[in-house]
Amino acid sequence: MKVGIIGTGYVGLPTGVGLAELGNDVICIDREQSKIDALKAGKITLYEDGLEDLFHKNIANGHIKFTTSMKEGVENADLVIIAVGTPPHPVTHEADMKYINAAATELAEYLQGYTVIATKSTVPVGTGDDVENLIRKKNPNADFDVVSLPEFLREGFAVHDFFNPDRIVVGANTEKARNVIKELYKPFEGKTQMLFVKRRSSEVIKYASNSFLAMKIHYINEMADFCEKTGADVFEVAKGMGLDSRIGNKFLNPGPGFGGSCFPKDTMALAYMARSIGMNFDLIETVIAGNANRKKQMANRILESVKNIENAKIAVLGLAFKDGTDDCRESPAIEIIKHLIENGAKLRVFDPKAMVSAKQLLGIDVEYANDMYNAIDGTDCLAILTEWNDFKELDLAKVKQLMRTPKIIDLRHILDKDEALKLGFEFSGI
Ligand code: NAD
Repeated sequence: MKVGIIGTGYVGLPTGVGLAELGNDVICIDREQSKIDALKAGKITLYEDGLEDLFHKNIANGHIKFTTSMKEGVENADLVIIAVGTPPHPVTHEADMKYINAAATELAEYLQGYTVIATKSTVPVGTGDDVENLIRKKNPNADFDVVSLPEFLREGFAVHDFFNPDRIVVGANTEKARNVIKELYKPFEGKTQMLFVKRRSSEVIKYASNSFLAMKIHYINEMADFCEKTGADVFEVAKGMGLDSRIGNKFLNPGPGFGGSCFPKDTMALAYMARSIGMNFDLIETVIAGNANRKKQMANRILESVKNIENAKIAVLGLAFKDGTDDCRESPAIEIIKHLIENGAKLRVFDPKAMVSAKQLLGIDVEYANDMYNAIDGTDCLAILTEWNDFKELDLAKVKQLMRTPKIIDLRHILDKDEALKLGFEFSGI
């Protein structure tokens, strides 16, 4: 199948590479010239485990191409996938539709023959209708259907999740469009559940799923606070809860709050949508406010630990919003660091993959280390803010020697607390 993908970011690029690997002819379109120049030159523009090899392989065999030209990507396509960003609107926090609307308007004039337009971006309910209207207005004779094809990949596991999806949800209002999507996902037939629903249901499934997962994280974070005050161990509690098949053990890992490019914006967008139809989604509003507060609480724990140390310096390990990615968007680590800086803290930071993206958000307000030991050297508190495997390998005896004051705050529960205490660290975690 000939597939054009509009938006070559964390969703568009792994999707494009994955579809190329399945034998489709893919053209990835992005309006950012520098991104397309890099991709054309064989330089991958984001980190995802296993992506780079497939990227090079499919460039070499000609299954994937990159362009800034909407015409080139759309005119011969059987399927055009929209994978542009839907960031929170800076004022209202609803999903900002400017990129979707621009993509729909720009692609319209190049449609030739029957084409399915599939929206993979996470979009408010009713967007399918809006995209359809925008295209029809610009090109009244176009022969097309708009379907909702929400993306459920996890950053850090994008390649794995592309080839092993839990489910494929398709919101299509015509048989013809459903058949195109069935053909696209034929290689997954019998391996995964394909759910065909109304377009509006499909749009809501994505928000309903992400908000539920965010709620689950917030629930276990509040449970962690409860356990800390009552002498229970939240990790034992989570294990006991997770054995109940009705609850499941995933997303029961307490930490410094949820972040990333999806949960914060999608919960806010759902709350906004509810408000705009005169409904108050109290549960989700509470999750949003509670999560924002949690990051401040965590930062305050760090500040508290060094309040009596003159010229204290804090080492931060972990900047990405989770391990396995270089993405720092809405990262709890970045939020916590900003709060620390606002309160006058001096920081040296390190992340195995996210230094470049973190620098764009933190600028010159922190020192950047070359490696994890360099970050720790001469500091008074080590805060672990992302759960990278590399940090599990820390030689705590060496850490003790390097630090000026041996204090650890492990907000990701990855270090061996007993060993740290034995070595003489002051240790606190969740
Ligand atoms: P991103 O910001 O990484 O990538 C979006 C890309 O679209 C950018 O490269 C941008 O230059 C490009 N773009 C914007 N407008 C364009 C236009 N008119 N023409 C061509 N290119 C254009 O975003 P992302 O993280 O890939 O997310 C994309 C969508 O997928 C969002 O709606 C997001 O909510 C959703 N989603 C993301 C994830 C994730 O893990 N990141 C998972 C599921 C769903």
